[in-house]
Amino acid sequence: MKIGIVGCAGRMGRMLVAATLAGDGCELAGGTELAGGRHIGADLGALAGLEPAGIAVTDDAAALFEAADAVIDFTVATATERHAELAGQYGTAMVLGTTGLEAAAERAIEKASRSAAIVQAANFSLGVNLLIGLGRQVAGILGDDYDIEILEMHHRHKVDAPSGTALALGRAAAAGRGVDPDAVFDRVRDGHTGARTKGRIGFATLRGGDVIGDHTVIFAADGERLELAHKATSRAVFVKGALHAAIWSSSQPPGLYGMGDVLGFS
Ligand code: NAD
Repeated sequence: MKIGIVGCAGRMGRMLVAATLAGDGCELAGGTELAGGRHIGADLGALAGLEPAGIAVTDDAAALFEAADAVIDFTVATATERHAELAGQYGTAMVLGTTGLEAAAERAIEKASRSAAIVQAANFSLGVNLLIGLGRQVAGILGDDYDIEILEMHHRHKVDAPSGTALALGRAAAAGRGVDPDAVFDRVRDGHTGARTKGRIGFATLRGGDVIGDHTVIFAADGERLELAHKATSRAVFVKGALHAAIWSSSQPPGLYGMGDVLGFS
């Protein structure tokens, strides 16, 4: 099957190009980058640190969506909205890992999913998807005597906060408790905040160095604390999951799927 990579010069993009070129049963349909960027025209294989692949980076996302069976998007929020529109227009399956999306992009994704299979996940690792399920289960068992706090740390280049994974963990915990996430999230705290309100789900964000992604869900009560933690030590886990999702998506009917559907434990 033919896989296209939008944002092919990014941290995730280059690894996805390399994995697609090396992958069994998949072929690289092409890659795009931001128009006017310095990578336009570069060879995709060389960009990924491999032998030249004879395919140049372009800024023509429409042509890529037309040519590919599935397109993988780890870019920026503004680009993802346009890419979702193209997925819908061409009926091309899309795997979407970009985080920090605005409501307009989420609407475009929902609309595209009526005519294309879209897999959207804040995190493509098996471990984090298990953590999301465990967090939901534990939140459902423990009452609100257990304060839920979510701590995350990422590398210094990350542009959105809290991370998409932290928010997904928070939504799962809220679902476990049967509450509306928007009504209970404390995404930031600063200054004289007053005492913690029972039932809230708090977030704390750390940024620095080259940390790929650490997440801890804390259930803190009087006298004990339960912590569920995941640490990604290589982006290869996200690449493997995204490629698996792309292959899976190409045989699915239109719809909006999560990584739980791909892994078979949603
Ligand atoms: P990055 O900044 O290294 O890469 C993004 C790339 O997208 C850049 O090369 C940029 O030039 C390119 N881009 C921007 N606009 C574009 C456009 N219009 N068309 C084509 N390309 C365009 O970032 P990254 O670390 O690779 O992460 C990208 C996104 O993926 C972030 O939102 C990050 O949070 C998310 N992410 C998700 C997961 C997951 O498992 N879901 C894992 C890692 C990263």
